[in-house]
Amino acid sequence: DWRDRSTASMAPSTGKPAVTPDSVINLDHGDPTMFEAFWRETGDAAEVVIPGWQTMSYFSDVTNVCWFLEPDLDRQVRRLHRIVGNAAADDGYHVLVGTGSTQLFMAALYALSDAAGDGDGDGEPVAVVSTAPYYSSYPAVTDFLRSGLFRWAGDADTFKGDTYIELVCSPNNPDGTIRESVLDSKTGNGKTIHDLAYYWPQYTPITKRADHDIMLFTVSKSTGHAGTRIGWALVKDREIARRMTKFVELNTIGVSKDSQLRAAKVLAAVSDGYERRPEMTSSSPTTSRLFDFGRQKMVERWSMLRAAVAASGIFSLPEETSGFCNFTKETAATNPAFAWLRCDREDVDDCASFLRSHKILTRSGEQFGADPRYVRVSMLDRDDAFEIFVNRLSSLK
Ligand code: PMP
Repeated sequence: DWRDRSTASMAPSTGKPAVTPDSVINLDHGDPTMFEAFWRETGDAAEVVIPGWQTMSYFSDVTNVCWFLEPDLDRQVRRLHRIVGNAAADDGYHVLVGTGSTQLFMAALYALSDAAGDGDGDGEPVAVVSTAPYYSSYPAVTDFLRSGLFRWAGDADTFKGDTYIELVCSPNNPDGTIRESVLDSKTGNGKTIHDLAYYWPQYTPITKRADHDIMLFTVSKSTGHAGTRIGWALVKDREIARRMTKFVELNTIGVSKDSQLRAAKVLAAVSDGYERRPEMTSSSPTTSRLFDFGRQKMVERWSMLRAAVAASGIFSLPEETSGFCNFTKETAATNPAFAWLRCDREDVDDCASFLRSHKILTRSGEQFGADPRYVRVSMLDRDDAFEIFVNRLSSLK
């Protein structure tokens, strides 16, 4: 439950309880509050003021397929992808906006389930699959309205059939692996959705410019603004873009313009950090450059976590991998947003309960279609909570 928080006193203006060394540490959700420290240092660079008369219309640009997309968000999305080089946003792609990438995920299922159908009108729902361990929201979101168009069908690795929608999350939530589709969409009626929420330089080297048919991104994981609820899709095919837009139209008649303007300003501030000439800014790279800040934090946290796991002796983590990052022009390790932690103690078959008994809340491997000896731990919480977590973990025997 999103409201499942302890009743301890709230930290100033964060809406979250302040943590103390014996607090319950909640690392179940991937709440990206780690990034607050960066945005506190940026002054008014990402501030927006919206006069009372603005953003009142339902419409943003009636000439665009996505008629509720604010033109400045469209521009800033393309600009940031151009700077980072993680996706081919300019090559004829349509940019679509959603209330989080979660809404666009649903929009894509809606748009593709029609397209993937075998056309014989038998009304069988299209199978939605993803290689395990998969993001726990995929089955939950796919099935919660019991749609007649599509149905969750589990692990893509064991799926048999040629009409499907495959979800490819890379780097993968929960285990951080770099993934490609496992089903061959050239044969049959297969379609893929690429969820690239974590394909940003703070988490992984940028090794290629992704150019898939449907790619999903979100400010939640790129800049840390999960509460703004803005995600975007890059979509190659105009008809798919039109159907996805139709879904958002029927679901929420568009997406908050106030949030879109804020997201555009935040993305612009990130790009400015890399495009302004160094002599124009007196601040250090980690106070003006988001990905430098993020990478440094993630490197520190992963090294703290690996040290704690070594000190404890009862856990294991995925091996570290690395690659050449075309954005930073350096070889860099992957620093996933989640730790996929395994408890190796013979007498522990449910790692989440074991950690809960030590007041550490995580998400069980079971929810990702995997073994309950694994848990997913958020690496994106605030410093104080993360430090208490690693200290507590290192003492578990
Ligand atoms: N995809 C993945 C892989 C995620 O981890 C998340 C957030 N946990 C989302 C999508 C949803 O992001 P949003 O906040 O934009 O709805």
